[in-house]
Amino acid sequence: MLWVAGLATVLIDLAKGYRASRQLVSASLPFSHVGIVELARQLGIRAPRVLKSDVPGLPFAAGIFRPVVVIPAEECEANVYAHELAHIRSRDLFWSLFARLTLGIFWFCPFIHKLEAELSLWQEARADQSACQITNCPVKEHAAAIVRSVAPRGSNLVWDACLSGNGRLIKRRLSALYQGRGSKAVAVAMGAILIIGLTPWKLTLPSESFSPTRARMTGPPVAEIAAIISR
Ligand SMILES: [Zn+2]
Repeated sequence: MLWVAGLATVLIDLAKGYRASRQLVSASLPFSHVGIVELARQLGIRAPRVLKSDVPGLPFAAGIFRPVVVIPAEECEANVYAHELAHIRSRDLFWSLFARLTLGIFWFCPFIHKLEAELSLWQEARADQSACQITNCPVKEHAAAIVRSVAPRGSNLVWDACLSGNGRLIKRRLSALYQGRGSKAVAVAMGAILIIGLTPWKLTLPSESFSPTRARMTGPPVAEIAAIISR
């Protein structure tokens, strides 16, 4: 019962996030953005749909099967758009959802919480690096954009970023950006989550599950069935 309550809490949280993102997507209008199309081409992905919101803020990528990029009212730098496209290229949204569902199953395990947070951090670090590479944006400028994104407008940026509660994570993300680390850590975190996430399915499947292919190859045990019927 307690386990179901923990799982339900994670699922409700996920549903709230989905609804908030859905509302922003529905309230945005299709927009033609040549810069994003060109960046997608450079990243080797099909250009996603671009929607423009009248809400100020940051662009964000949404959708697993048909990704969209929602851009804010004001124009952003190319590296900020490239960061979102890098998330799409790496299918980070799918892996984040998988990690969150795994967390829902193993919510009682602090290690999974840590692993999910690490995956999220390294996904950001990897997208930051791709954004800098593709746009030739100096690391310093991209780092400044990250700090701006977590600090309220018109405030002392660094101070607020450190006070935001994410200070330690932002510091790690920035140092990963400066050191060019990310891809390997994402692979390790994804591998660990994949193994843990698939464990419940492996445990619930019967060891001798029915396989139509194998049944066709071996054929039905006719002699045995006939013997049973004739008894
Ligand atoms: Zn991101």
